[in-house]
Amino acid sequence: MDWSLFGCARQGHVTYAPDEPELRNRLMAPTAGGTAWRCLRCGAFVTDGEHGSGPAAAAPLVRRGQELRSELILRVFAVERFLRFLIVGVAAYGVWWFKYDQAGIQRAYNNAVPAIRALYQDLGLDVSHSKLLVLVNHALTISPRWITILTIGLPVYALIELVEGIGLWLGQRWGEYFAMIATSVFLPLEVWELARGHITWLKVAAFAINLLLVIYLVWTRRLFGVRGGKAAYDDRLRTESVIEMEQAALVAATATSGQPDQASRASTAIQPEPGEPAAAPTRSTAPPARAAQSGSTRPDTTERRSPPT
Ligand SMILES: [Zn+2]
Repeated sequence: MDWSLFGCARQGHVTYAPDEPELRNRLMAPTAGGTAWRCLRCGAFVTDGEHGSGPAAAAPLVRRGQELRSELILRVFAVERFLRFLIVGVAAYGVWWFKYDQAGIQRAYNNAVPAIRALYQDLGLDVSHSKLLVLVNHALTISPRWITILTIGLPVYALIELVEGIGLWLGQRWGEYFAMIATSVFLPLEVWELARGHITWLKVAAFAINLLLVIYLVWTRRLFGVRGGKAAYDDRLRTESVIEMEQAALVAATATSGQPDQASRASTAIQPEPGEPAAAPTRSTAPPARAAQSGSTRPDTTERRSPPT
């Protein structure tokens, strides 16, 4: 799967016109439909205009390939955080409602119990085995101290999940750090809960997701200086960028186009001395002759090359 293309399909192409004329020429192409610019993400020449311009060093760092895949994976985690926010948010609202209208809820429950019992009997079920009723009964007898803890704790937790989700969705450095730290804080609590023997599939799954997220963030986003940290992360983005690759290609192109010219000059410089063998020592006499002949201002670059045999 070409993640860069997928990224452009989702977010549109990113083009940039660098100030450097040679690089600029490599990134643009005249077409019938106007000037096409090379997309910094997918590398295709596209005609939907240049989105930015300036020195090449100021070009936007665009995530490509693997980095885009990683961004998508983090968005899956973000969606999971948003779901947690919704569930915990509803629970927080329920607890808050319960705290301020406990008597009303108790009354409603007492009124509903006969109907629930009748329903269970109609269905041929034993009401004393109903998990729902046990849970509701348990909730109704919860201590005021716990209710106070929950009315504060649940909204705070929901808010943390929301911020984590936004941070992961945006793919910002702060969001990655926030998600990593906030998730780590709850890990010991989750381990303790599982170690007490209160094991449910939901708890195991939640713990596994959190642990995976922390490891994934630290490893792929190189948080806390892991694998070279942010500098190494940005370096990687840079070495994969279309602009950097074009710059490297430009340097390589000028180097190879200059090479045969200089090599031929070097050979002509060596040839006029007839009696001597065309071996390495003759090069020592070459530079002055060559410099006089071609007016080269860079004799040391040709010096390093071995003479043609
Ligand atoms: Zn593109």
